[in-house]
Amino acid sequence: MIYLDHQATTPADARVVEAMAPWWTRDFGNAASRTHVYGWRAEAAVEAARETLARAIGAGDPREIIFTSGATESDNLALQGVAHAARARRGGGDHLVTVATEHPAVLDTARALAREGFAVTELPVDPAGFVDPDAVAHAINERTILVSVLWANNEIGVLQPIEAIAAVCRQRGVLFHSDAAQAVGKVPVDVAAAGVDLLSWTAHKLYGPKGIGALRVRSGRPRVRLAPLLYGGGHENGLRSGTLPVPLIVGFAKAVELALADLEAEADRLIALRSRLLARLRAELDGVLVNGDLERRLPGNLNLRFAGIDADALLAALPEVALSTGSACSSARPEPSSVLRALGLPDAEVRASIRLGLGRSTTSEDVDAAADRIIAAVRVQRAQRPHSA
Ligand SMILES: *Cc1c(COP(=O)(O)O)cnc(C)c1O
Repeated sequence: MIYLDHQATTPADARVVEAMAPWWTRDFGNAASRTHVYGWRAEAAVEAARETLARAIGAGDPREIIFTSGATESDNLALQGVAHAARARRGGGDHLVTVATEHPAVLDTARALAREGFAVTELPVDPAGFVDPDAVAHAINERTILVSVLWANNEIGVLQPIEAIAAVCRQRGVLFHSDAAQAVGKVPVDVAAAGVDLLSWTAHKLYGPKGIGALRVRSGRPRVRLAPLLYGGGHENGLRSGTLPVPLIVGFAKAVELALADLEAEADRLIALRSRLLARLRAELDGVLVNGDLERRLPGNLNLRFAGIDADALLAALPEVALSTGSACSSARPEPSSVLRALGLPDAEVRASIRLGLGRSTTSEDVDAAADRIIAAVRVQRAQRPHSA
Protein backbone atom coordinates (compact mmCIF):
# COMPACT_ATOMS: atom_id res chain seq x y z
CA MET A 1 0.00 0.00 0.00
CA ILE A 2 1.04 3.58 -0.68
CA TYR A 3 -0.50 6.14 1.67
CA LEU A 4 -1.19 9.43 -0.11
CA ASP A 5 -3.89 10.83 2.15
CA HIS A 6 -1.90 12.85 4.69
CA GLN A 7 -4.50 15.63 4.81
CA ALA A 8 -6.99 13.12 6.28
CA THR A 9 -4.63 12.01 9.02
CA THR A 10 -1.00 11.06 9.60
CA PRO A 11 0.50 8.07 11.41
CA ALA A 12 1.84 8.83 14.88
CA ASP A 13 5.64 9.10 14.70
CA ALA A 14 7.39 6.26 16.57
CA ARG A 15 9.18 8.86 18.72
CA VAL A 16 5.80 10.31 19.70
CA VAL A 17 4.48 6.90 20.74
CA GLU A 18 7.67 6.32 22.75
CA ALA A 19 7.33 9.67 24.54
CA MET A 20 3.72 8.83 25.45
CA ALA A 21 4.43 5.33 26.78
CA PRO A 22 5.22 6.01 30.48
CA TRP A 23 2.19 8.29 30.89
CA TRP A 24 -0.37 5.49 30.46
CA THR A 25 0.81 3.15 33.20
CA ARG A 26 3.67 4.36 35.42
CA ASP A 27 2.92 8.11 35.47
CA PHE A 28 -0.84 7.81 35.21
CA GLY A 29 -1.75 10.60 37.66
CA ASN A 30 -4.53 13.12 37.26
CA ALA A 31 -2.96 16.50 36.48
CA ALA A 32 -5.53 18.13 38.75
CA SER A 33 -4.57 16.03 41.80
CA ARG A 34 -2.84 18.43 44.18
CA THR A 35 -2.15 16.11 47.10
CA HIS A 36 0.48 13.66 45.82
CA VAL A 37 3.40 13.20 43.49
CA TYR A 38 1.33 11.38 40.83
CA GLY A 39 -0.68 14.53 40.26
CA TRP A 40 2.35 16.84 40.44
CA ARG A 41 4.23 14.86 37.83
CA ALA A 42 1.28 14.81 35.47
CA GLU A 43 0.74 18.53 35.95
CA ALA A 44 4.42 19.26 35.25
CA ALA A 45 4.22 17.26 32.01
CA VAL A 46 1.08 19.11 30.92
CA GLU A 47 2.62 22.50 31.66
CA ALA A 48 5.82 21.62 29.79
CA ALA A 49 3.69 20.58 26.80
CA ARG A 50 1.68 23.78 27.03
CA GLU A 51 4.91 25.77 26.85
CA THR A 52 6.10 23.81 23.81
CA LEU A 53 2.81 24.43 22.02
CA ALA A 54 2.76 28.14 22.87
CA ARG A 55 6.32 28.61 21.63
CA ALA A 56 5.59 26.62 18.47
CA ILE A 57 2.92 29.10 17.31
CA GLY A 58 4.47 32.28 18.69
CA ALA A 59 1.98 32.68 21.55
CA GLY A 60 3.56 34.76 24.30
CA ASP A 61 1.98 33.05 27.28
CA PRO A 62 1.52 29.26 27.77
CA ARG A 63 -1.77 30.01 29.54
CA GLU A 64 -3.14 31.00 26.12
CA ILE A 65 -3.19 27.29 25.15
CA ILE A 66 -6.46 25.43 25.91
CA PHE A 67 -6.34 21.67 25.35
CA THR A 68 -9.34 20.19 23.54
CA SER A 69 -10.19 16.87 21.86
CA GLY A 70 -9.12 18.12 18.43
CA ALA A 71 -9.58 20.88 15.88
CA THR A 72 -13.32 20.21 15.57
CA GLU A 73 -13.81 21.04 19.23
CA SER A 74 -11.39 23.99 19.04
CA ASP A 75 -13.36 25.45 16.12
CA ASN A 76 -16.62 24.94 18.00
CA LEU A 77 -15.21 26.54 21.14
CA ALA A 78 -13.92 29.53 19.17
CA LEU A 79 -17.12 30.21 17.22
CA GLN A 80 -19.76 29.17 19.73
CA GLY A 81 -17.66 30.53 22.59
CA VAL A 82 -17.29 34.00 21.10
CA ALA A 83 -20.90 34.09 19.86
CA HIS A 84 -22.47 32.98 23.14
CA ALA A 85 -20.25 35.27 25.22
CA ALA A 86 -21.25 38.20 22.99
CA ARG A 87 -24.95 37.34 23.25
CA ALA A 88 -24.67 37.41 27.04
CA ARG A 89 -23.46 41.05 26.94
CA ARG A 90 -25.72 43.98 26.20
CA GLY A 91 -24.88 45.29 22.72
CA GLY A 92 -22.42 42.43 22.27
CA GLY A 93 -22.93 41.96 18.54
CA ASP A 94 -24.29 38.97 16.64
CA HIS A 95 -22.57 38.73 13.23
CA LEU A 96 -19.86 36.30 12.09
CA VAL A 97 -17.86 36.26 8.86
CA THR A 98 -16.39 33.12 7.36
CA VAL A 99 -15.52 31.61 3.97
CA ALA A 100 -17.23 29.10 1.66
CA THR A 101 -14.17 26.79 1.60
CA GLU A 102 -13.87 26.39 5.39
CA HIS A 103 -13.73 22.97 7.04
CA PRO A 104 -17.16 21.67 8.13
CA ALA A 105 -16.07 22.15 11.77
CA VAL A 106 -16.26 25.90 11.11
CA LEU A 107 -18.98 26.05 8.43
CA ASP A 108 -21.47 23.80 10.18
CA THR A 109 -20.85 25.55 13.50
CA ALA A 110 -21.51 28.90 11.81
CA ARG A 111 -24.68 27.49 10.23
CA ALA A 112 -25.84 26.18 13.62
CA LEU A 113 -25.28 29.67 15.06
CA ALA A 114 -27.29 31.10 12.17
CA ARG A 115 -30.19 28.80 13.16
CA GLU A 116 -29.88 30.24 16.70
CA GLY A 117 -30.39 33.72 15.27
CA PHE A 118 -26.83 34.93 14.63
CA ALA A 119 -26.10 36.56 11.27
CA VAL A 120 -23.45 34.74 9.22
CA THR A 121 -21.67 35.92 6.07
CA GLU A 122 -19.98 33.19 3.97
CA LEU A 123 -17.49 34.89 1.67
CA PRO A 124 -16.70 33.40 -1.74
CA VAL A 125 -13.20 32.57 -3.00
CA ASP A 126 -11.63 33.31 -6.38
CA PRO A 127 -10.95 30.45 -8.87
CA ALA A 128 -7.51 29.90 -7.29
CA GLY A 129 -9.12 29.45 -3.86
CA PHE A 130 -8.24 32.76 -2.17
CA VAL A 131 -10.50 35.00 -0.13
CA ASP A 132 -10.02 38.71 -0.78
CA PRO A 133 -9.08 40.73 2.36
CA ASP A 134 -11.05 43.66 0.91
CA ALA A 135 -14.14 41.44 0.81
CA VAL A 136 -13.57 40.70 4.51
CA ALA A 137 -13.37 44.45 5.18
CA HIS A 138 -16.65 45.02 3.28
CA ALA A 139 -18.39 42.19 5.14
CA ILE A 140 -17.58 43.58 8.59
CA ASN A 141 -20.26 45.79 10.15
CA GLU A 142 -20.85 47.28 13.59
CA ARG A 143 -22.43 44.03 14.80
CA THR A 144 -19.55 41.78 13.70
CA ILE A 145 -17.94 39.82 16.56
CA LEU A 146 -15.70 37.31 14.76
CA VAL A 147 -14.02 36.57 11.43
CA SER A 148 -12.92 32.95 10.88
CA VAL A 149 -10.64 32.02 7.97
CA LEU A 150 -8.90 28.69 7.39
CA TRP A 151 -5.08 29.03 7.35
CA ALA A 152 -4.52 26.13 4.93
CA ASN A 153 -7.33 24.34 3.12
CA ASN A 154 -7.63 20.60 3.79
CA GLU A 155 -8.68 19.72 0.23
CA ILE A 156 -6.72 22.07 -2.03
CA GLY A 157 -3.96 23.12 0.39
CA VAL A 158 -4.34 26.80 -0.50
CA LEU A 159 -2.83 29.19 2.07
CA GLN A 160 -5.05 32.21 2.75
CA PRO A 161 -3.62 35.74 3.13
CA ILE A 162 -3.87 35.48 6.91
CA GLU A 163 -1.79 38.55 7.81
CA ALA A 164 -3.76 40.86 5.51
CA ILE A 165 -7.08 39.56 6.87
CA ALA A 166 -5.82 39.89 10.46
CA ALA A 167 -4.82 43.50 9.76
CA VAL A 168 -8.36 44.24 8.54
CA CYS A 169 -9.85 42.64 11.67
CA ARG A 170 -7.52 44.50 14.01
CA GLN A 171 -8.28 47.82 12.35
CA ARG A 172 -12.02 47.18 12.71
CA GLY A 173 -11.76 45.85 16.27
CA VAL A 174 -13.11 42.40 15.38
CA LEU A 175 -11.71 39.11 16.74
CA PHE A 176 -9.97 36.87 14.21
CA HIS A 177 -9.97 33.07 14.40
CA SER A 178 -8.07 30.74 12.08
CA ASP A 179 -8.34 26.96 11.76
CA ALA A 180 -4.67 26.00 11.31
CA ALA A 181 -5.13 22.21 11.57
CA GLN A 182 -3.35 21.67 8.24
CA ALA A 183 -0.83 24.48 8.70
CA VAL A 184 0.94 24.03 12.04
CA GLY A 185 4.07 21.96 11.57
CA LYS A 186 3.89 22.27 7.75
CA VAL A 187 4.29 26.01 7.14
CA PRO A 188 5.44 28.76 9.53
CA VAL A 189 2.63 29.81 11.89
CA ASP A 190 3.21 32.74 14.26
CA VAL A 191 0.03 34.07 15.85
CA ALA A 192 1.65 37.19 17.28
CA ALA A 193 3.35 38.18 14.03
CA ALA A 194 0.25 37.36 11.97
CA GLY A 195 -2.19 39.02 14.39
CA VAL A 196 -4.46 36.01 14.96
CA ASP A 197 -6.47 36.06 18.21
CA LEU A 198 -7.77 32.48 18.20
CA LEU A 199 -6.09 29.51 16.54
CA SER A 200 -7.29 25.89 16.28
CA TRP A 201 -5.12 22.91 15.57
CA THR A 202 -4.82 19.17 16.19
CA ALA A 203 -2.11 16.57 16.83
CA HIS A 204 -3.16 13.87 14.36
CA LYS A 205 -2.41 16.01 11.28
CA LEU A 206 1.22 16.41 12.36
CA TYR A 207 2.20 12.84 13.28
CA GLY A 208 0.77 13.01 16.80
CA PRO A 209 -2.05 11.03 18.42
CA LYS A 210 -5.74 11.33 17.51
CA GLY A 211 -8.09 12.88 20.04
CA ILE A 212 -6.05 15.86 21.20
CA GLY A 213 -6.04 19.41 19.90
CA ALA A 214 -5.70 22.94 21.14
CA LEU A 215 -7.22 26.38 20.90
CA ARG A 216 -4.98 29.38 21.38
CA VAL A 217 -6.88 32.23 23.02
CA ARG A 218 -4.96 35.51 23.04
CA SER A 219 -4.42 37.04 26.48
CA GLY A 220 -4.28 40.78 27.15
CA ARG A 221 -6.44 43.60 25.83
CA PRO A 222 -8.90 43.86 24.27
CA ARG A 223 -9.98 40.80 26.20
CA VAL A 224 -11.20 37.74 24.29
CA ARG A 225 -14.42 36.62 25.98
CA LEU A 226 -15.41 32.98 25.47
CA ALA A 227 -18.28 30.93 26.84
CA PRO A 228 -17.30 27.28 27.44
CA LEU A 229 -18.87 24.35 25.60
CA LEU A 230 -18.35 21.99 28.53
CA TYR A 231 -18.99 22.71 32.20
CA GLY A 232 -17.54 20.72 35.08
CA GLY A 233 -14.41 20.85 37.17
CA GLY A 234 -13.25 24.15 35.70
CA HIS A 235 -10.10 22.83 34.03
CA GLU A 236 -8.28 24.93 31.42
CA ASN A 237 -9.24 28.26 32.96
CA GLY A 238 -12.88 27.21 33.11
CA LEU A 239 -12.98 27.02 29.31
CA ARG A 240 -12.78 23.24 28.95
CA SER A 241 -13.68 21.06 31.88
CA GLY A 242 -12.62 17.42 31.91
CA THR A 243 -9.61 15.42 33.11
CA LEU A 244 -6.65 16.16 30.87
CA PRO A 245 -5.45 13.22 28.70
CA VAL A 246 -1.81 13.47 29.80
CA PRO A 247 -0.38 10.83 27.40
CA LEU A 248 -2.04 12.52 24.41
CA ILE A 249 -0.82 15.94 25.54
CA VAL A 250 2.76 14.68 25.93
CA GLY A 251 2.53 13.08 22.47
CA PHE A 252 1.09 16.28 20.95
CA ALA A 253 4.04 18.31 22.27
CA LYS A 254 6.57 15.75 21.04
CA ALA A 255 4.95 15.75 17.59
CA VAL A 256 5.04 19.55 17.44
CA GLU A 257 8.69 19.59 18.48
CA LEU A 258 9.65 17.07 15.78
CA ALA A 259 7.67 18.84 13.05
CA LEU A 260 9.15 22.24 13.82
CA ALA A 261 12.72 20.97 14.05
CA ASP A 262 12.45 19.79 10.45
CA LEU A 263 9.88 22.15 8.96
CA GLU A 264 11.86 23.81 6.16
CA ALA A 265 13.79 20.76 5.01
CA GLU A 266 10.64 18.63 5.00
CA ALA A 267 8.69 21.31 3.11
CA ASP A 268 11.41 21.45 0.43
CA ARG A 269 11.46 17.67 0.17
CA LEU A 270 7.67 17.44 -0.19
CA ILE A 271 7.56 20.22 -2.79
CA ALA A 272 10.20 18.37 -4.83
CA LEU A 273 8.22 15.11 -4.57
CA ARG A 274 4.99 16.86 -5.50
CA SER A 275 6.63 18.43 -8.56
CA ARG A 276 7.98 15.03 -9.56
CA LEU A 277 4.53 13.47 -9.26
CA LEU A 278 2.83 16.21 -11.26
CA ALA A 279 5.53 16.20 -13.95
CA ARG A 280 5.28 12.44 -14.34
CA LEU A 281 1.50 12.48 -14.67
CA ARG A 282 1.61 15.33 -17.18
CA ALA A 283 4.33 13.68 -19.22
CA GLU A 284 2.09 10.64 -19.79
CA LEU A 285 -1.43 12.05 -19.71
CA ASP A 286 -3.28 14.91 -21.35
CA GLY A 287 -5.83 16.95 -19.46
CA VAL A 288 -4.25 16.95 -15.97
CA LEU A 289 -5.24 20.18 -14.22
CA VAL A 290 -4.39 21.49 -10.75
CA ASN A 291 -7.27 22.64 -8.54
CA GLY A 292 -6.31 25.68 -6.47
CA ASP A 293 -3.19 27.82 -6.59
CA LEU A 294 -0.02 25.75 -6.90
CA GLU A 295 2.37 28.30 -5.35
CA ARG A 296 0.71 29.47 -2.14
CA ARG A 297 -0.11 25.96 -1.03
CA LEU A 298 0.74 23.32 1.57
CA PRO A 299 3.97 21.54 0.55
CA GLY A 300 2.46 18.01 0.59
CA ASN A 301 -0.84 18.72 -1.15
CA LEU A 302 -1.95 18.26 -4.73
CA ASN A 303 -5.54 18.29 -5.94
CA LEU A 304 -5.87 17.25 -9.56
CA ARG A 305 -8.62 16.82 -12.07
CA PHE A 306 -8.30 14.44 -14.97
CA ALA A 307 -10.41 15.50 -17.92
CA GLY A 308 -13.21 13.05 -18.64
CA ILE A 309 -12.54 10.84 -15.61
CA ASP A 310 -14.86 9.70 -12.84
CA ALA A 311 -12.71 10.01 -9.70
CA ASP A 312 -14.69 7.49 -7.62
CA ALA A 313 -14.23 4.86 -10.33
CA LEU A 314 -10.56 5.81 -10.61
CA LEU A 315 -9.97 5.31 -6.86
CA ALA A 316 -11.84 2.00 -7.00
CA ALA A 317 -9.38 0.89 -9.70
CA LEU A 318 -6.43 1.84 -7.45
CA PRO A 319 -6.92 -0.24 -4.29
CA GLU A 320 -3.21 -0.21 -3.49
CA VAL A 321 -2.98 3.60 -3.38
CA ALA A 322 -4.75 5.35 -0.46
CA LEU A 323 -6.22 8.52 -1.98
CA SER A 324 -9.41 10.48 -1.60
CA THR A 325 -11.74 12.55 -3.71
CA GLY A 326 -12.11 15.25 -1.12
CA SER A 327 -12.36 15.53 2.56
CA ALA A 328 -12.62 12.54 4.90
CA CYS A 329 -14.32 14.99 7.22
CA SER A 330 -17.44 15.13 5.09
CA SER A 331 -17.25 11.66 3.61
CA ALA A 332 -20.53 10.86 5.30
CA ARG A 333 -22.06 13.12 2.65
CA PRO A 334 -22.01 11.82 -0.88
CA GLU A 335 -22.27 15.27 -2.51
CA PRO A 336 -19.41 16.56 -4.65
CA SER A 337 -16.82 18.62 -2.79
CA SER A 338 -18.18 22.00 -1.78
CA VAL A 339 -14.60 23.35 -1.73
CA LEU A 340 -14.11 22.55 -5.42
CA ARG A 341 -17.57 23.89 -6.23
CA ALA A 342 -16.63 27.13 -4.47
CA LEU A 343 -13.74 27.48 -6.96
CA GLY A 344 -16.43 27.66 -9.64
CA LEU A 345 -15.90 24.17 -11.05
CA PRO A 346 -18.93 22.46 -12.62
CA ASP A 347 -19.99 19.17 -11.02
CA ALA A 348 -18.47 17.04 -13.78
CA GLU A 349 -15.05 18.58 -13.09
CA VAL A 350 -15.48 18.26 -9.34
CA ARG A 351 -16.24 14.56 -9.85
CA ALA A 352 -13.08 14.23 -11.95
CA SER A 353 -10.85 15.43 -9.08
CA ILE A 354 -8.66 13.60 -6.57
CA ARG A 355 -6.61 14.80 -3.59
CA LEU A 356 -3.04 13.56 -3.20
CA GLY A 357 -1.51 14.13 0.23
CA LEU A 358 2.21 13.47 0.55
CA GLY A 359 3.87 13.23 3.96
CA ARG A 360 6.82 12.29 6.12
CA SER A 361 6.99 8.65 5.02
CA THR A 362 6.48 9.36 1.30
CA THR A 363 9.50 8.46 -0.85
CA SER A 364 10.30 9.12 -4.49
CA GLU A 365 9.68 5.40 -5.11
CA ASP A 366 6.17 5.81 -3.67
CA VAL A 367 5.54 8.79 -5.89
CA ASP A 368 6.74 6.97 -9.01
CA ALA A 369 4.76 3.83 -8.24
CA ALA A 370 1.60 5.84 -7.48
CA ALA A 371 2.04 7.88 -10.68
CA ASP A 372 2.45 4.71 -12.78
CA ARG A 373 -0.72 3.20 -11.34
CA ILE A 374 -2.73 6.38 -11.75
CA ILE A 375 -1.55 6.76 -15.35
CA ALA A 376 -2.54 3.18 -16.15
CA ALA A 377 -5.94 3.51 -14.47
CA VAL A 378 -6.72 6.82 -16.22
CA ARG A 379 -5.79 5.26 -19.59
CA VAL A 380 -8.06 2.27 -18.97
CA GLN A 381 -10.97 4.51 -17.99
CA ARG A 382 -10.44 6.86 -20.93
CA ALA A 383 -10.29 3.89 -23.32
CA GLN A 384 -13.66 2.73 -21.98
CA ARG A 385 -15.17 6.19 -22.42
CA PRO A 386 -13.46 7.52 -25.55
CA HIS A 387 -16.10 10.21 -26.04
CA SER A 388 -15.15 12.03 -22.86
CA ALA A 389 -11.36 11.81 -23.06
C1 LIG B 1 -8.70 17.58 10.24
C2 LIG B 1 -9.22 18.95 10.30
C3 LIG B 1 -10.11 19.35 11.30
C4 LIG B 1 -10.68 18.38 12.31
O1 LIG B 1 -9.72 18.04 13.24
P1 LIG B 1 -10.02 16.89 14.31
O2 LIG B 1 -8.86 16.96 15.23
O3 LIG B 1 -10.08 15.64 13.52
O4 LIG B 1 -11.29 17.23 14.98
C5 LIG B 1 -10.53 20.65 11.33
N1 LIG B 1 -10.08 21.53 10.43
C6 LIG B 1 -9.23 21.19 9.45
C7 LIG B 1 -8.76 22.21 8.48
C8 LIG B 1 -8.76 19.89 9.36
O5 LIG B 1 -7.93 19.56 8.38
